[in-house]
Amino acid sequence: MRVIVSFLAMLFVSASLHAAQPAAGADEVAQMCKKISGRLASVSYKECSNIHFYQPRFYSANNLPILEAHYAAKTGTKNPVRILFIGGIHGDELSSVSVTFKWLNTLNKHHSGSFDWHFVPLANPDGLMRRPATRVNANNIDLNRNFIPAEAELTPLEYWQQRAKMRKRYYPGQAPLSEPESKMIHKLIEEYRPTVIVSVHAPHGMLDFDGDKQPPQRLGPLYLRHLGTYPGSLGNYGWYVKNIPVLTIELQYAGIMPSPQDISKMWVDLVRWVRYKAKPKNQIAEGGEEP
Ligand SMILES: [Zn+2]
Repeated sequence: MRVIVSFLAMLFVSASLHAAQPAAGADEVAQMCKKISGRLASVSYKECSNIHFYQPRFYSANNLPILEAHYAAKTGTKNPVRILFIGGIHGDELSSVSVTFKWLNTLNKHHSGSFDWHFVPLANPDGLMRRPATRVNANNIDLNRNFIPAEAELTPLEYWQQRAKMRKRYYPGQAPLSEPESKMIHKLIEEYRPTVIVSVHAPHGMLDFDGDKQPPQRLGPLYLRHLGTYPGSLGNYGWYVKNIPVLTIELQYAGIMPSPQDISKMWVDLVRWVRYKAKPKNQIAEGGEEP
């Protein structure tokens, strides 16, 4: 009996030594997926946990992990289009996060390796988790006004004071990149060197584009309408400071999902645009001649 007990004890010790310990990062991702699916009726825990998110590298002002997923181009793909995809920079634009998760799940199933994608489906988790959700982050700063502005007459703060009627929702902070979330996007742009940045918002029901490529005329139900940029916005920083084209997708409603058909049409149109119009400048179109 004693022999059996000690044999069992040995087995137990050996099993516990060799059992795979879940990494702290995986646990953080699982907890964040629980939070997101608890907050958004349109994102299930499964849809979030299906995605192979990085072990968190960046955290919000309230210390929530910021999820990132990467889908690399096939090895050997010459100079692939690199898309940095940002959802939920404004926490009260719930559909921008949910739709980004739908597209991320589509990519997860059908990634062909033709392009290189880097996804941040929820850039402002603190804003989303607040009740009610807020546009601004936990420090009450509009992250989409907290980037380095192009040389302009007015700084983001001056613009807010003089032109934005000092509305709290648009407060850019005392200085650019004061916030961990905008620093994170800034660092990703430096590190990833995207060919194009796609940022999802709501509820203006349109597309906007800043850059020198031919913009998409429509994605599903959304049509192109140039609005111009604001000092400190991602569009202003991406194109006018870094020379990286920025496509802004404004869904129709912040709190109502587009139909599954429209979600799918927008994705198909986006991928078609990426394939034909978003090539890096030095890449020759298939069968084309260098000018
Ligand atoms: Zn927005």
